[in-house]
Amino acid sequence: MDGLQAENSGDTAEEKYRALACDTALSTLLAVVVYVLVKVSLDGIRQWRARISVLIVGSGPVGLTAALVAVRSGKVLKLTVLDERYRSALLCRPQQIALDPRSVKFLLGLGVDFDNMEGCWHNDHFFTRIGVFQEYLLSILEQKRQQVDVKVQLGTKFTEEYLRRIPRKEWPSVIVVADGSCGDSCSVLGISSDYTVESCHAYGANATIERLDQRQVPTPEIRAHSLYFDLSAYGVEAFREHRNPTSKPGFHLKIYGTFRNRYMALVCPTSDTKMVRFLRHTANSSIMKNIFHQSFNAYKTDIEPRLSDVTCHHMQCSRRLFEIQLSHRRISAAYIEGDNVAVTVEGEAARVLNFDTGFGVNLGMRGLESMGSFIYRTATAVDQNDILEALSAKMQHSRHVAEAFRQTGLAESMYE
Ligand SMILES: Cc1cc2nc3c(=O)[nH]c(=O)nc-3n(C[C@H](O)[C@H](O)[C@H](O)COP(=O)(O)OP(=O)(O)OC[C@H]3O[C@@H](n4cnc5c(N)ncnc54)[C@H](O)[C@@H]3O)c2cc1C
Repeated sequence: MDGLQAENSGDTAEEKYRALACDTALSTLLAVVVYVLVKVSLDGIRQWRARISVLIVGSGPVGLTAALVAVRSGKVLKLTVLDERYRSALLCRPQQIALDPRSVKFLLGLGVDFDNMEGCWHNDHFFTRIGVFQEYLLSILEQKRQQVDVKVQLGTKFTEEYLRRIPRKEWPSVIVVADGSCGDSCSVLGISSDYTVESCHAYGANATIERLDQRQVPTPEIRAHSLYFDLSAYGVEAFREHRNPTSKPGFHLKIYGTFRNRYMALVCPTSDTKMVRFLRHTANSSIMKNIFHQSFNAYKTDIEPRLSDVTCHHMQCSRRLFEIQLSHRRISAAYIEGDNVAVTVEGEAARVLNFDTGFGVNLGMRGLESMGSFIYRTATAVDQNDILEALSAKMQHSRHVAEAFRQTGLAESMYE
């Protein structure tokens, strides 16, 4: 009997122990679930509320598009956009830009309404004047003033003095440097000006024609392919070469810009044919001029005037074919430690070709494709590590943009 009682009390103790263990496990689980839920909600609220201040240096097409990305990110409380030029100088640039389908899609995603911008469409590309594009972006930024504190300071140069005048507690968390190929804002911020220079495996030459009697209307570009030039007068027998199936394909020509400012780009993949060798090394500058002269008249639109021997004098062009190279900054993003500022370099300030293909703005847009997530990650960073990771991802993307251009950029902008 005693034995049975002891057994029963042993069973009860075990059951109690089991029940206690079960209760403890359940309450621990509950505590963990509550902790996770509270943490996730607090993180969510913190991320949702996180807002930063952003400074953009340069109001070229890339700087202003970066400003639009910042406003659309929903993570910016205060946005300051600078340019050393005054409004009239900023908007009067004569160049035309051709936004390719990828840039158009990117800009549509940012709310750009192409129906409200002077320009024209051709082959899914949108052609407009650089100043028209900048003016449109400035007008959108004006409209966003109710959502974000936007300040556009034109006629203001970014210098050490400018930085010193910002009160410490008002320093931006992010600075976007988009001050073009001649800007020196990176040196103000202590960012190295080392560039990697890489060959695009092509030779090229550029020409510019300016005619003051023509209107600045948006004009589609013209492309021509597989061109060979008769240089027999200079002792170069091209005919036999181009019939030779092993020799490389001929030249690609692009005519772009408005009827007033016509630009031409002539490109061929690197090769060692007689013609290419001759055009790479000739000392006779009139040969290239002749090539551009004849090419323009052969491929120009029907409604614009031909270049005559007289008007041809107004054409400026490369003296010979040169190797096309892309230079890109070794350091395109940085962290200013003491001041807790993340800096990213964009557009021609980050990467530039020694040859104009009329693709510069698209190359800048490619770099901005990672700007939205960079601003989000910086705004919601918990600590310095998160910011460094965001900067590292931005820099990696910048390198990828340069590499992708070297692989396919000339094909997209010239060969196809
Ligand atoms: C003759 C010519 C024809 C071209 N044609 C075409 C074309 O057909 N299609 C095309 O896509 N591209 C074309 N381009 C290239 C195109 O103009 C550039 O790719 C484009 O302007 C680069 O944009 P960005 O915003 O990076 O720099 P930018 O347009 O150079 O803008 C930089 C801005 O930063 C400002 N800035 C500089 N330093 C400071 C400072 N310290 N503080 C404040 N502001 C500063 C400058 O005033 C400038 O407004 C052409 C270029 C040239 C020269």
